Amino acid sequence: MRYQSTRGNSPQQSFLEILLGGLAPDGGLYLPVEYPQVTKAQLDAWRGLSYADLAYEILSLYCDDIPEHDLRALLRKTYTAQVYCNGRAKDDAQDITPLHWLGEEQGTRIGLLSLSNGPTLAFKDMAMQLLGNLFEYALQHSGQKLNILGATSGDTGGAAEYAMRGKDGVNVFMLSPRGKMSPFQSAQMYSLQDPNIFNLAVAGVFDDCQDIVKAVSNDHAFKAQYRIGTVNSINWGRVVAQVIYYFQGYLLATKSSAEKVSFTVPSGNFGNICAGHIARMMGLPIAHLIAATNENDVLDEFFRTGVYRARKSAETLHTSSPSMDISKASNFERFIFDLVGKDGKETARMFKQVDELGGFDISKESIFKEMAQYGFQSGRSTHQDRLDTIRNIDKQYQVMVDTHTADGIKVAREHLQPDIPMLVLETALPIKFEETIEIALGRPADCPIAFKDIKLKPQRVENIDADADQVKHFIAAHVPSVHS
Ligand SMILES: *Cc1c(COP(=O)(O)O)cnc(C)c1O
Repeated sequence: MRYQSTRGNSPQQSFLEILLGGLAPDGGLYLPVEYPQVTKAQLDAWRGLSYADLAYEILSLYCDDIPEHDLRALLRKTYTAQVYCNGRAKDDAQDITPLHWLGEEQGTRIGLLSLSNGPTLAFKDMAMQLLGNLFEYALQHSGQKLNILGATSGDTGGAAEYAMRGKDGVNVFMLSPRGKMSPFQSAQMYSLQDPNIFNLAVAGVFDDCQDIVKAVSNDHAFKAQYRIGTVNSINWGRVVAQVIYYFQGYLLATKSSAEKVSFTVPSGNFGNICAGHIARMMGLPIAHLIAATNENDVLDEFFRTGVYRARKSAETLHTSSPSMDISKASNFERFIFDLVGKDGKETARMFKQVDELGGFDISKESIFKEMAQYGFQSGRSTHQDRLDTIRNIDKQYQVMVDTHTADGIKVAREHLQPDIPMLVLETALPIKFEETIEIALGRPADCPIAFKDIKLKPQRVENIDADADQVKHFIAAHVPSVHS
């Protein structure tokens, strides 16, 4: 399989060639030149496969430069019940992403596809755990080393660190805004003692951390000398890993591939739901993909009106579903590329306009009408909706959900169709956002046993100023440069 840039002006590359990089040289995002097609017969033949073997069937269509035997072994090492049993029930850990039906509403069944049973209790583990093993594999084969530099406001940094800890050839330098993450999230990250994990607590906010990462990445000499890489949400490996659980969710919810299901996805950077779009393009019988946003409703606005308007940092609200607090949706360009008929020039023009004018408007163009065939719908949710939904789901079904999942359920209920099962992607466990759970329910969030004493563990973290030079010095002092 070859990969092309959404801006149409970079050479095509293979899976392993794009794995360790970020953007394509022309500033676009990588996509396969075509989506492999899965027939209904194939789909039915995959029923009953373990998650790892289902992952193999899907990923082998995308990464033919990894020998079959290596890929299967890598997936079996990644998706084990042992790694994915942090959540509620051990007995369904075998499914890796178990499906829990809530009940019957408006003539159909509504359920939660649990994506947050991995080591950091959020769905980002699903892809990041695979990326950790893929990176180690790729680096072993090329004899290279990689230093990952990232910025996090919570979930991404933790997932990256738990995926890369102890891996050969990889160091992680993770910038986080000092004192701005929840106590649970910072304890999760800072309690890691692995020598290849470096937590840098920056005196500033998340945007300062992101600016430092950009500044360091733009210093091309430094980047090359210290082999700096990233694991942000535009990485193709992360997107394709997420395709797997749409298939798993579909197979768990249906008895035959004549049936359709819909998915509602709590969305921020459009990474998770982009994987759903790809699954649908491959032929998975998905009726609708519903993007649920919080008050930061860039995506909901686009799907309703055809107007894409990136927000300024100052316009981005801090909400009680913080992992969806985005100003623009970094993976959105992948869908637009498909929408404009894989026209790289046109995609480049539209996203230059986003950079220069802040957005684009397709409401009067024919592609806005054509968009219906892709099955997207959308909705938005507010702080009050989250509190109401958390209370309602607790009362009606005796299930505790986190704030992001609550946004999803709220929006899903506005899009139920008779006889089409609705799967809401559960993207985090409630304990990660325990402050809001306590407000909603008046009692503490459930906490998996393994995390009961997380806040008491010794922490390993360095304080640093919001200054790119200081970060560079820190990296230089802790890794040998390529030339030395
Ligand atoms: C990252 C994240 C999201 C948003 O996912 P995108 O891929 O950015 O759309 C939603 N919920 C939780 C808990 C997350 O960590």
